[in-house]
Amino acid sequence: MTYIASDRRYNHMTYNRCGNSGLMLPALSLGLWHNFGESDSLENARNILHLAFDEGITHFDLANNYGPPPGSAEITFGKIFKEDFSNYRDELVISTKAGWKMWDGPYGDWGSRKYLVASLDQSLRRMGIDYVDIYYHHRPDPNTPMEETMAALDSIVRQGKALYVGISSYSASETQKAVDLLKQLGTPCIIHQPKYSMLDRWVENGLLDVLGREGVGCIAFSPLAQGLLTNKYLKGIPADSRAASHRGNGAIEEDAITEEKIKKVARLNDIALQRGQSLAGMALSWVLRDKRVTSVLVGISKPEQLTDSLKCLSAAPFTEGELRSIEAALAN
Ligand code: NDP
Repeated sequence: MTYIASDRRYNHMTYNRCGNSGLMLPALSLGLWHNFGESDSLENARNILHLAFDEGITHFDLANNYGPPPGSAEITFGKIFKEDFSNYRDELVISTKAGWKMWDGPYGDWGSRKYLVASLDQSLRRMGIDYVDIYYHHRPDPNTPMEETMAALDSIVRQGKALYVGISSYSASETQKAVDLLKQLGTPCIIHQPKYSMLDRWVENGLLDVLGREGVGCIAFSPLAQGLLTNKYLKGIPADSRAASHRGNGAIEEDAITEEKIKKVARLNDIALQRGQSLAGMALSWVLRDKRVTSVLVGISKPEQLTDSLKCLSAAPFTEGELRSIEAALAN
């Protein structure tokens, strides 16, 4: 049956300006790193994408290597896009990235112009679209001059294959350099995609300051620490969880669910319950408390998780006391 998006899709979502750019992003965006691969259910993937868009999530985030296997998330997305979303292309912000190993040989990894241009062409073919809204360099490359990588991003925009460009996992000083280079080229860096959650706060040591000062948006990845910052692992490792499914490609493994971390998570869960939120909801609200954060990128394996996560948008702001309790729970 043909998908028709809800006519109430713009009623509840909050849209934030991405840095100083003209682009607005939903406060919650959907990432397709896992749960959209070849071995995942196509119908479940379709249901998640429908629900997301019906709830005002206009931004879907991909990368060349998402799956597993690498490339298959873009193929899944392309199939569903063609069948259900092609009439809505102008209401969607689709991003992809290159920077991690994608194919064998010297041209399928890191940050050369050769790799970035070829990889984007492949991504566009897999997704069946003419352009992406945002193209990212996925990680810094210590061996390619940053001038070359940024010039490749600039020319991709000039060729109309991407509307905007961004970077991911660049340190504060690398970000400053990339932002300066792109400014000189005339294609601004509008967004940075770093890992950020209550359990990984590296961005607070300089990166957010650079982004705030330069007017670059920030979209946080793994805000739930891949599911650790939810109540799912409090009583062991459920069979249908990411940790139990040995997906590879950086997915959380069982040995990352340590007793020490679970004690911390249990303390956070108590604070969340006192606030009337699920722990997942509180973890998302916490990342969004910093106004320099434009959007949080959630991974979703079941539609009900998305319904739960969306509640973070209507939660009460944190009191000073709650923020102190969270710091204490994290410190112990
Ligand atoms: P999260 O930290 O949001 O973890 C997602 C997992 O958390 C889900 O698969 C699910 O686990 C669980 N979950 C989500 N919502 C709930 C809920 N409400 N209640 C209970 N459990 C929940 O994000 P990801 O690690 O998936 O990263 C999000 C996105 O960020 C990626 O899809 C990708 O787009 C981007 N990303 C970018 C990277 C980069 O280098 N730039 C690297 C990694 C991610 P389960 O599957 O066990 O049910």
